[in-house]
Amino acid sequence: ESYLSRLRLVEPHLNSFLHVSDSVLREAQEIDDKLSRNEDIGPLAGVLVGVKDNICTADMPSTGGSRILENYRPPFDATAVKRVKALGGIVVGKTNLDEFGMGSTTEGSAYKVTSNPWDISRVPGGSSGGSAAAVSARQCAVSLGSDTGGSVRQPASFCGVVGLKPTYGRVSRYGLMAYASSLDVIGCFGSSVADAGILLGAISGHDRLDATSSDRGAPDFTAHFPPADAFGAKPLQGLRVGLIRETLDSGVDHGVTSTVQRAASHLEELGCTVKEVSLPSFSLGLPAYYILASSESSSNLSRYDGVRYGSQAAAEELNSLYGDSRARGFGAEVKMRILMGTYALSAGYYNAYYKRAQQVRTVIRKSFKAALDENDILISPAAPSAAYKIGEKKNDPLAMYAGDIMTVNVNLAGLPALVLPCGFVEGGPAGLPVGLQMIGAAFDEEKLLKVGHIFE
Ligand code: GLN
Repeated sequence: ESYLSRLRLVEPHLNSFLHVSDSVLREAQEIDDKLSRNEDIGPLAGVLVGVKDNICTADMPSTGGSRILENYRPPFDATAVKRVKALGGIVVGKTNLDEFGMGSTTEGSAYKVTSNPWDISRVPGGSSGGSAAAVSARQCAVSLGSDTGGSVRQPASFCGVVGLKPTYGRVSRYGLMAYASSLDVIGCFGSSVADAGILLGAISGHDRLDATSSDRGAPDFTAHFPPADAFGAKPLQGLRVGLIRETLDSGVDHGVTSTVQRAASHLEELGCTVKEVSLPSFSLGLPAYYILASSESSSNLSRYDGVRYGSQAAAEELNSLYGDSRARGFGAEVKMRILMGTYALSAGYYNAYYKRAQQVRTVIRKSFKAALDENDILISPAAPSAAYKIGEKKNDPLAMYAGDIMTVNVNLAGLPALVLPCGFVEGGPAGLPVGLQMIGAAFDEEKLLKVGHIFE
C-alpha cells in the first residue's frame, strides 16, 4: 500500500509507467494468506517489481513503447517475469521506454515522456528510463530493464540508482522483444547493489526457450557479501582496477571526470591498486555498435507486419497492408534504424559496413579480454555527462548516439557491468547524480557485485 500510494503521488510528475497493475494488493493478500498457512512465500515475497514494457507480461499490455503494439497483450510471461513471480515478486506495472529500446532519453516512447526524479525538466536517460526513474523515486523496490548498448547503465547513472547489465546469456531473452539479438540482455535496477544482485539471482539461469542462455545456473550473487561491520581497514586489498584511459578523453564533462577520479581514489583507500589501462579500439565501439544494432534490428523488426501482432492498417492488398501498418505504427527513430540497417546489410555495402563492424567487434572483444587478464575489474564513467534537459538532444541523433560511448563496447564484448552512484555534479535543484561503471570478466558478476557493495 505504501509503495502504491507513493507511486500514485509522484507518477503525474514523472510518467514512469505505461501501465499500472490493478492486482497488486490482491497478490499481496495472497502472500499474507500463504504466510498465515505457514506456506513457503519465496525470497521475493511482496517485493514490487517494475518491468520495462518491452518485456512480455501475460496479464498486462506489452507495447515496447511502440504504436505498432498498442493494446497488444502477449499470451505468455517472459522467462524473467515468470521467475520473479515464482519467487513471490509482484509486478507493479510496465515502465516507459524508447520505442523498442532505441534511444537514450525515453523521449522516443510513442506514448509519454518520462522525467528524471532529480529534476523533472531533465531526461531520465534511456532506453529503460521508466524503470530507472521508478526505482529512483521509490515507486517500486526494483525493476527490470534491457541493455543492448547501455539502456540499463546510462539511465541508472542519470537517475542515481544501481544498474546491472549481466553477461550476455546469463538471463534468458525469452519474452524480451528483440532489438539486436546478439547484444540484448535483460538487466536489473535497485537502490542498492544488494537489491540488484538479489534480482539478478532470481532471473538468471538456463532456459530451454532461449538457445543463447547459459547453463551456468543461478548462483546466490550476494551470498559472499561481507557484513558492513566486518569490512576491516582495506577490504579490497590486492584488487587490481584498470581505469580506462580513453573514457576520460575530451568530450567528457569535467565534473564527470573529476567525480570518477575521486571514485578511483576511494577504491585505492579501500585497498585496490588503480592503474590506467589503454583500450586503443575503444572509440571504434560506437560506429561498430550502431551498424550492428541497426542491422540486427532491421531484421528483427520485420515481424511487425500488421498481420502477426498489434495494429493493422486497412488496405486493399497485402503489400500496402504491410507498408501502411509499418508506416503508421513505427516512429521516426525506428524507421531510421531500419533504413540504416537495411542499407548496411545490402549486397553492395555488406562488406564495407556490416562485415567491417563484425571485425571491429572481434578486435574490441580481444582488447577487453587482454585488459581483464591484467585487471580484476575495469572502471569508467557510465556516461559522458549527467542528465540533460528534455528536448536538448531530441533532434540531434548523432549527439544522442555519441552519449553511448561509455557503454556500447561492453555489449559488443558481451561482458557484465555494474553502474552505481559515485557522486554529484551541479545542476537541478539538488545536484545531479553521476554513475561509476565497473566492468568484469564474463560471468564474474559475483566479483562486480561484491566490489560494488563494499564501494557503496
Ligand atoms: N542508446 C542505445 C541505442 O539506442 C542503446 C539502447 C539500448 O541499450 N537498448 O541503441
